[in-house]
Amino acid sequence: MRRRIFAANWKMHLGPAGARGFLETFLPTYAPRDGREVWFFAPAVSVRTVADVIRGHPTLRAGVQNVYWEPQGAYTGETSVAMAAEVGASTALVGHSERRHVFGETDDQTGRKVRAVLAGGLVPVLCVGETLVERERGDTHAIVRRQVDVLSGLPREQLDRVVVAYEPVWAIGTGRNATPEDAAEVHAAIRGHLRLVGAAADRVPVLYGGSVKPGNAAELMAQSEIDGVLVGGASLDPVSWRAILDAVRD
Ligand code: PEP
Repeated sequence: MRRRIFAANWKMHLGPAGARGFLETFLPTYAPRDGREVWFFAPAVSVRTVADVIRGHPTLRAGVQNVYWEPQGAYTGETSVAMAAEVGASTALVGHSERRHVFGETDDQTGRKVRAVLAGGLVPVLCVGETLVERERGDTHAIVRRQVDVLSGLPREQLDRVVVAYEPVWAIGTGRNATPEDAAEVHAAIRGHLRLVGAAADRVPVLYGGSVKPGNAAELMAQSEIDGVLVGGASLDPVSWRAILDAVRD
């Protein structure tokens, strides 16, 4: 059975004090379950706080929302993989839709970041997903295939560490989630693309993200193709985050 991953993407919310406050409310209510992991993608300045507060909880991880592929240099404002690891991150989002659509990140850049994250020993969560226009044109599969293709050429032992998140752009922060069946259908296609790039696709966790809430998490996770969720807005409040974890029974 694949791992179940519940990933919180705090975006540009929760600085160190806010992150600590969140976790101090959440942790006393947190009951670990076999086969489940809970990951927190915090703003870079809050990662050390998250890593410190969750120390001793083997099912929890701290992660960064973005990295740069170079190890160091004149790249003002960027964070290297080694720096992220130094403050306690063991995972990194790569190619989140806001990176692609707000900051203009390309597939080429996403591919470099995935490689840097893997080389640095962290787990990349490669985010893929189509815009509404692309979906309406019937291009969803072609888009996610192109985005998954950045994994081409990676050695098998690195592919084995990759996590993918399917996040339709039109569902992120809009309150409009993909139906569980639509999401599962794209997840199955993503698994097919993963097989084509040489991954052991049946073992790669594929998460769904896009307006996941306590009220829809269970039906999404009931799909055998959906191994976890990547949650933005509803992960910012420890009560709704806990409710998402509780809503999924198995
Ligand atoms: C996200 O930020 O990855 C996300 C899915 O956001 P939201 O849950 O708010 O749609």
